[in-house]
Amino acid sequence: MYNWLIVGAGFAGAVLAERLANERGERVLVIDRRAHIGGNAYDELNEDGILYHKYGPHLFHTNSQQIVDYLSRFTEWHPYEHRVLAEVDGKLVPIPINLDTVNSLYGLNLTPEELPSWFAERAENIPDIRTSEDVVVSTVGRELYEKFFRGYTRKQWGMDPSQLDKSVTARIPTRTNRDDRYFTDTFQAMPKYGYTKMFEAMLESPNIEIRLEADFRDVRRSVEFGRMIYTGPIDEYFDHCYGKLPYRSLRFKHETLETAQHQPVGTVNYPQTNDFTRISEYKHFTGQQHPKTTITTEYPSAEGDPYYPIPRSENADLFRRYEARAREEKNVWFVGRLATYKYYNMDQIVGQALATFRKLNEQI
Ligand SMILES: Cc1cc2nc3c(=O)[nH]c(=O)nc-3n(C[C@H](O)[C@H](O)[C@H](O)COP(=O)(O)OP(=O)(O)OC[C@H]3O[C@@H](n4cnc5c(N)ncnc54)[C@H](O)[C@@H]3O)c2cc1C
Repeated sequence: MYNWLIVGAGFAGAVLAERLANERGERVLVIDRRAHIGGNAYDELNEDGILYHKYGPHLFHTNSQQIVDYLSRFTEWHPYEHRVLAEVDGKLVPIPINLDTVNSLYGLNLTPEELPSWFAERAENIPDIRTSEDVVVSTVGRELYEKFFRGYTRKQWGMDPSQLDKSVTARIPTRTNRDDRYFTDTFQAMPKYGYTKMFEAMLESPNIEIRLEADFRDVRRSVEFGRMIYTGPIDEYFDHCYGKLPYRSLRFKHETLETAQHQPVGTVNYPQTNDFTRISEYKHFTGQQHPKTTITTEYPSAEGDPYYPIPRSENADLFRRYEARAREEKNVWFVGRLATYKYYNMDQIVGQALATFRKLNEQI
């Protein structure tokens, strides 16, 4: 008999398991249908001994000292600031678009003071910004939109930016200075020995039992438990009774190359060419020294594991129907990206899980 069943051993499940086991001393069973812990952040050494991320590149960044302090109980850190280049018109230029991007693409010598008016001359006046296309075209104009965003977004989402909600591109800022860091958060680092080692440390407790390759649909009948944390897909929990929540997926091609370095930065985006979106090279993130290098190429796809909720209003409406059902469930907490049908970064999921713990700790 367990006090808690936790479905999913990703960030949401692992944080809650750790808190319930160590802070409240309760007996917790964590299950995952995959063969490993860590959820999408799972990393492992491949056969050449290079650390890579099975579900695509995961860069940790946050502005929350509370989240850093919490995770630092389970890992040391390797400082790393992510940089991304985009291959545009045959050149590799920084993304987010900054002063160097514009100067390099157009052969200009603009200063940080001049760049805002250069953008303003090109930006289109769109009074009612509704779509992703509107966001970009109204900030940097149509030409940069077509070079950097249109093709990338079509590949990533299988839809034209004019059909996608503005929230999708609201995440990509432009800069008028030379800052070429992909993220500007105050804390940017990788777990020193990898994510999986960090998860192992979080789940290391005599009160926690882990069962892998165990699906909730099978376990729910065979295990006795008091309460539950569910971090799987919310529509699946209710047997898709209102229909399936749509997701965009990815296929990852992992390769190890007989060279020490493949590309100049951690990630290169391909907005104009190829049918993949980007290539990431792990040694940039991890600082690992090795004569070979491992890269991952990402091919967006309509089929496969659920990765990105598709941000359209009809999908949000469908999610709200499931959310209403979830509120009626007794002794079940729905936490994490799949149960809340929202793209969250890792730090946000840790924050969500810690907040859930505080709330339930007050209630019960
Ligand atoms: C390609 C990609 C790149 C990303 N890069 C970054 C990044 O650079 N930085 C960042 O901060 N975030 C990144 N993220 C987001 C990050 O992956 C998530 O924030 C994080 O994984 C969410 O944790 P979670 O616990 O909510 O979900 P997950 O990690 O998905 O964990 C949920 C777990 O539940 C299990 N599960 C589901 N249903 C069942 C069931 N019925 N029975 C048993 N187990 C079940 C799943 O197998 C899974 O392991 C990226 C995401 C993707 C897809």
